[in-house]
Amino acid sequence: MPLLEVERLSKRFGGVRAVHEVSFTLDEGELLGIMGPNGSGKTTLFNLIAGALRPNAGRVRLQGRDIAGLSPHRVCASGVARTFQLVRPFAGLSALENVLVGRLYGRARDGDAAAEARRLLGLVGLGDRAAEPAARLTLIDRKRLELARALATGPRLLLLDEFMAGLNPAETASAMELIRSLVAGGTTVLMVEHIVWALMDLARRILVLSAGETIADGSPAVVAADPRVVDVYLGTTDRWTPAT
Ligand code: ADP
Ligand code: MG
Repeated sequence: MPLLEVERLSKRFGGVRAVHEVSFTLDEGELLGIMGPNGSGKTTLFNLIAGALRPNAGRVRLQGRDIAGLSPHRVCASGVARTFQLVRPFAGLSALENVLVGRLYGRARDGDAAAEARRLLGLVGLGDRAAEPAARLTLIDRKRLELARALATGPRLLLLDEFMAGLNPAETASAMELIRSLVAGGTTVLMVEHIVWALMDLARRILVLSAGETIADGSPAVVAADPRVVDVYLGTTDRWTPAT
């Protein structure tokens, strides 16, 4: 059974079909990339999976159980965590406290919460910033913190929304290593990314959305050669090659 099954999922905002009959499955341990122009429905798709929005039609199944329409905290407790395109840590709390909050919302687990939170801060490269108020962290560090907070929930499935946006080349490379290590450790990842070369490097499969609909779904090579993908997206992006 796939870990995640999305079946003919649809969401309208007034007259806008933000997501229209999108279907795909994701196996445990897989990393699936999602790309598409701005406004193509990528964040809405994440909101539907994570419980922030209720679909107009369609199904979202996690390990066979329908989770569409559950509240975000129930979806999180069932094993789905996310990072946001616009990061928003609890600014007044320390980095460590932010990670501990994540744990409260996630799957119930035993063990030393503080020690686990410190381990996750180390994993994302914030080992020496535990006591720092989140408001004082730089953009990359806030992104790292948000990832640690998401991981503290104990996710089976991690949703990353433009995690690498705004990072410099060295930071992008370290983010890619981190994502690879999470997948190697058994986390299943669904990631939206505009940095095409990075996504093509990380993902064995990519889904391309345009105006809310799937226009391609396949290996990076197949997707990159698809004339429709080139037409609506790749021809308009400057993220083909790593910046030097
Ligand atoms: P992407 O993440 O691919 O840039 P979004 O999912 O954010 O795209 O948006 C898809 C479409 O849905 C856009 O036309 C956007 O304006 C619209 N949209 C997204 N969220 C809302 C909302 N809460 N209310 C109304 N329209 C929305
Ligand atoms: Mg978006």
